[in-house]
Amino acid sequence: MNRNATAFLKEEYQDLVNKNLDWKLRILESGSTPHAVVDGKKILMLCSNNYLNLSNHLRLIKGAIDAAKKYGAGSGSVRAIAGTMKIHVDVEKKLAKFKHTEAALLYQTGFAANAGLIPQLAGDGDIIISDELNHGSIIDGVRLSKADRAVYKHKDMGELDKVLREADKKYKRILIITDGVFSMDGDIAPMDKIVKLANEYGAMTYVDDAHGEGVIGPDGRGIGAHFGIEGKIDVEMGTFSKAYGVVGGLVAGSHDLYNFAYNKSRTWLLSGSHPPTVSGAQLAAIEVLETEPQHVQNLWNNTKYFKKELNSMGFNTGESETPITPVMVGDSGKAKKLSNSLFDEGIFALPIVFPMVARDKARIRVMMNAGLTKKDLDFALEKFEKLGKKLEII
Ligand SMILES: *Cc1c(COP(=O)(O)O)cnc(C)c1O
Repeated sequence: MNRNATAFLKEEYQDLVNKNLDWKLRILESGSTPHAVVDGKKILMLCSNNYLNLSNHLRLIKGAIDAAKKYGAGSGSVRAIAGTMKIHVDVEKKLAKFKHTEAALLYQTGFAANAGLIPQLAGDGDIIISDELNHGSIIDGVRLSKADRAVYKHKDMGELDKVLREADKKYKRILIITDGVFSMDGDIAPMDKIVKLANEYGAMTYVDDAHGEGVIGPDGRGIGAHFGIEGKIDVEMGTFSKAYGVVGGLVAGSHDLYNFAYNKSRTWLLSGSHPPTVSGAQLAAIEVLETEPQHVQNLWNNTKYFKKELNSMGFNTGESETPITPVMVGDSGKAKKLSNSLFDEGIFALPIVFPMVARDKARIRVMMNAGLTKKDLDFALEKFEKLGKKLEII
């Protein structure tokens, strides 16, 4: 057949542009710090996942440099062949100790952990049960599995109970998967209740705590610590790319989980391991969490102050219980306008619009940060108030 094999590349991109759904990338010319340079402009950063401002912490930078000097720039192989360096194992041991679990396993990214592990935990004759608002990387992990699927209404334990009762009779293995902290709304999954229900039916529990690691629980030890159920969640998955300020997926749980996961996950077996610099910074990040509690404290103090002030101005910050602070706008066009006007005033905060959230639930998603000062927060609040009034949001 005579066809233009690649015409769709331009056509589909143009379609996104026409609908104003294409990503317009802003370029950082500095670190991802509270005061950053973006597109040549000095701005206050309110949309980085670098919650604890660790990405530019001197101990992490030193950890990366020292590791490069000792081991070099790359690891040379996948973990399973010749790419497991002592520094990788050091991170895993330190992490397990920090999270009070038997073991912990590193993946290249959080996405690679979900895509590699989920399809191994449930297959033919099994079922995976998901919260309706789970992250896209979980959804892709589930798609790679041959298991049947069920979805329950967001955090609805009555419905989860019903789905479990049905599933109990029909399937061999049952896997419940949920985000720990939901990335769009900043609310927390009722993990204590989910574990209790799972135990009644002999189901496995898997939590993606990407936005909880380093943020919730004492010292930022994550959702298990937050609910006082450390070691009771079968799979605690997380990432070093957010509060830890580096990059890398992690899975914490039992020795059995560790052995199973690294022998079976294709993303782990078939993709190169972290450069030593990454692990050097990861080690330092865990050490900082263990010894400098002020970062987590500052993050929460800033979060409480910022939300309280926004609410008293009349802004709706939704269901958030964490530093993820949605400033509800409603209309997508208005949310984009608010974000652009904020940028002109020196504030970088991202609009989250349809199809990422429901059509009438567009918002600005402010990510709080431990490195913001009271002066920074007051500057941001003043701009939010001014523009909120101008756009008739408050
Ligand atoms: C960011 C995120 C991931 C992906 O983590 P990476 O390590 O950046 O690949 C997975 N799940 C959730 C809920 C996330 O927010």
